[in-house]
Amino acid sequence: MEFYNQESNCVFCTSYALYKAQQKILYENEGAYAFLSYKPSNFGHSMIVVKPHIISLRELQSPAVNLFFNAIENTYYALKKIITESPQKIMNFYQNLLIDPPEQESVECAQLQIKKGVPLTSPKGFNWGMNYGYKAGQRVAHLHIHLFPRYNGLGIATAMRKHLN
Ligand SMILES: [Zn+2]
Repeated sequence: MEFYNQESNCVFCTSYALYKAQQKILYENEGAYAFLSYKPSNFGHSMIVVKPHIISLRELQSPAVNLFFNAIENTYYALKKIITESPQKIMNFYQNLLIDPPEQESVECAQLQIKKGVPLTSPKGFNWGMNYGYKAGQRVAHLHIHLFPRYNGLGIATAMRKHLN
């Protein structure tokens, strides 16, 4: 939506056009977009990001709140489909992270996923997770939620960002 406020120095505001051009959007509607994480915690780890530059949940008003939850649900279906039908696309995405990493951490995250390979089973469940505040692991001050496919009983706490404090 053109009237949405955007921040030129925010990675989630600027990434949308780039990912769109690179065909890296997993799902989108008028209010949100989703993509595979460039710092994957596990195979298929994805992010759903609101399109306007909103930081807190309080700023998320109707109809944006409906669009966000719609994207949260539909990204789950889109991700389940790609993992089941074409997991190699996800592996290719990780291979490309080694060539052109958005962040240094992307390299080690991608290397780990490549080493582990395509999971032998389809996901048994999914977790959504929101890091709210720096100490909770939030690194981009733009409202977003993580989606983690679960293959072998991993709990959500083990896949959320690790912290020293
Ligand atoms: Zn932003």
